[in-house]
Amino acid sequence: MGITEHNQNGLVYLTADSFEAAGGVVHAFSTRKGGVSKGTFATLNLGIRRGDDPNLVRENYRILCGALGLPLERIVCSNQVHGNEVRTVTRKDAGKGLFYPVDYETDGLVTNQADLPLAVFSADCIPILLYDPVSQSIGAVHAGWRGTALKIAALAVEKMGLEYGAASENILAAVGPGLSQCCFESDGDVPDAMERAYGAPVRRYIAKKGRKWYLDLKGINAHCLESAGVPAGHISVSEDCTRCHPEKYWSHRATGKDRGSMAAVISLKRKGI
Ligand SMILES: [Zn+2]
Repeated sequence: MGITEHNQNGLVYLTADSFEAAGGVVHAFSTRKGGVSKGTFATLNLGIRRGDDPNLVRENYRILCGALGLPLERIVCSNQVHGNEVRTVTRKDAGKGLFYPVDYETDGLVTNQADLPLAVFSADCIPILLYDPVSQSIGAVHAGWRGTALKIAALAVEKMGLEYGAASENILAAVGPGLSQCCFESDGDVPDAMERAYGAPVRRYIAKKGRKWYLDLKGINAHCLESAGVPAGHISVSEDCTRCHPEKYWSHRATGKDRGSMAAVISLKRKGI
């Protein structure tokens, strides 16, 4: 199953068909379209620490939450450091990021609580959402190349198993828009780190052209999820490259640090809704 793009009164976002088919969960990968931020941040900036007006950022979240039917005041934000921490989120974390300070550093969030939306940020890095419809648990992961080499997607799958009894063969995964192989150019250190982490099988996601390497970071994360036991048929991957579409997506490589951020959000629905 694939990824579907939605346009709700100008708000553009993506969803994974498999999550929608399973039901019980609300999720989205945002784009830069449909918000109220101005100038550098026009228009849907969901990054909370990029220098944008906090009132406009909250309004952007209000628009997204309104469209998806999510409780704005309960969103739990990550505080990303390109590490391998995955945080077990509880109700005590509700509102951290938008309304309360974030008192943790983490690139991954998991929970089994309903109505507790998880949000991770990206602008070229790879956002990954996880959903186990059986144990009713979810995860949201930010994977740049460092996080990918640290296997953070697999660590999130493991955490869902340890904390909530999620069996990896039941987990659905959605790998969102980010740098594709066309635009993830690197020196030799990045492919070296990947090979140390994953061994020779990772070579099929890496191409060398001239003095540079090009990595399929989405493919490596899908490989990472498979190595953690998530069936290949459960993994949906967005083909959209953020750098190739800077009018649609925030892209660090396209615009540098003066930019907004996308968010990938996921929330379990309350039973009976
Ligand atoms: Zn590209």
